[in-house]
Amino acid sequence: MDERRLLAIMAHPDDESMGVGGALARYAAEGAGVYLITATRGQLGWFGDEASYPGPQILGAIREQELYAAARILGLREVHLLDYMDGALDQAQPNRIIAQLVSHIRRIRPQVVLTFDPNGYYGHPDHIAISQFTTAALIAAADGNFKDKSAPHRVSKLYYLAANKATQDAYEAAFGELTMKIDGVERRSTPWADWAITTRIDTSAHWQKVWQAISCHRSQLPGYQKLLDLPEEYHQNMWGAQTFYRAMSLVNSGRAVESDLFSGVKMEQHPLEVAVTQRMTVFQRSEILNDAA
Ligand SMILES: [Zn+2]
Repeated sequence: MDERRLLAIMAHPDDESMGVGGALARYAAEGAGVYLITATRGQLGWFGDEASYPGPQILGAIREQELYAAARILGLREVHLLDYMDGALDQAQPNRIIAQLVSHIRRIRPQVVLTFDPNGYYGHPDHIAISQFTTAALIAAADGNFKDKSAPHRVSKLYYLAANKATQDAYEAAFGELTMKIDGVERRSTPWADWAITTRIDTSAHWQKVWQAISCHRSQLPGYQKLLDLPEEYHQNMWGAQTFYRAMSLVNSGRAVESDLFSGVKMEQHPLEVAVTQRMTVFQRSEILNDAA
């Protein structure tokens, strides 16, 4: 049985497909347990005309169903919605959201966690917030003094989604320039330098699944119109590889570009094997004692 468990922690419905869909689809197809936590229902982002906006409640319910449909296509084992308000994730009570993330991390016990990079890809405050909360939750989940019902769990590796210039160009070919005005200042995407990319995942066998999952987000499709019009080669290219920055690893290091998020991760031993190993250790120790005597 595949013991690998991968958890993605994202801000909005569609981040799991547009952002990390390739990686999720690939590891799910390989038999790993792939889990998703989405912090908001994306109930405010509306691309249609204002008159047809159904309101946050209805749009939130629609986006929730779209998320589940995409998750089924990607082959995810579980999806959890935390129900924070779209656009206000950075106003969430840190102790509340971190405690929620900790309880999921301790229950799922993933070796690998994925989230947004500290710039939120193009400065989106929700993406930045989930990156910070996720990073904090990993520390808290491993801390025996952070009390909840469950046992501490140390995540072995944390990754930030790191789009390089090529990916940014491809996104902008479909969506135009990614900009956002926050606190009167314009934010735009800041691609990662190629030398800073630690991990490149081949997802070429899964690009169709990713595109299919993206297409589940029908209420967002008016904003994706250009994407629908682009040729097949574009999609093959766009969803056929993913780049990440290894923000934290307890199990490996170095400059060699990884091709697997689980590089260096040792699978847990079966409880029986652990028992045998422990007995052997005791036996060897008593042997040494006997020799000394
Ligand atoms: Zn998002």
